[in-house]
Amino acid sequence: MPSTEISLILLKPDTVSKGRCGEILKRFEAQGFKVRGMKMMLLSSEILAEHYSHLADKPFFPTIVEFMQSAPVVAVALSGENAISRVRDLLGPTDSTKADKGTIRGDLGEDMMVNCAHASDSPESAAAELKRFFAEGEVLDY
Ligand code: ADP
Repeated sequence: MPSTEISLILLKPDTVSKGRCGEILKRFEAQGFKVRGMKMMLLSSEILAEHYSHLADKPFFPTIVEFMQSAPVVAVALSGENAISRVRDLLGPTDSTKADKGTIRGDLGEDMMVNCAHASDSPESAAAELKRFFAEGEVLDY
């Protein structure tokens, strides 16, 4: 059953540094998704520890934190029918080198870590992540 969902996207430092925010947002908007909230942020170590807590014991965790703090990110609240799974499909798999051409990571990503954008992977994580990056009233209805 289709239902309208809101997903939390982070345009990662590689996207911001390379000037590709517009390119990626254009791909989402072309699929009918609506930007409902957007802000540029420099991520603290605290918010990254929370956001990537499932990776905290991995040897590459400090490298991810360093990458995610190498430039600002743009947090986007994106709504649409089945937005959570459809945005993940548009993004492609985590490893950009294994992502099909035509996906965002396949066309614009570099590798397993430098992969353009984060997108929520379930309704539960979307709810937690929207709260993590947007305050009450910052996700708008129109
Ligand atoms: P996704 O972002 O596709 O949901 P994960 O939640 O597994 O993937 O990982 C979060 C982020 O951590 C990835 O997007 C990537 O930037 C980084 N990452 C994950 N696994 C690795 C790895 N093996 N080596 C380097 N970076 C990784």
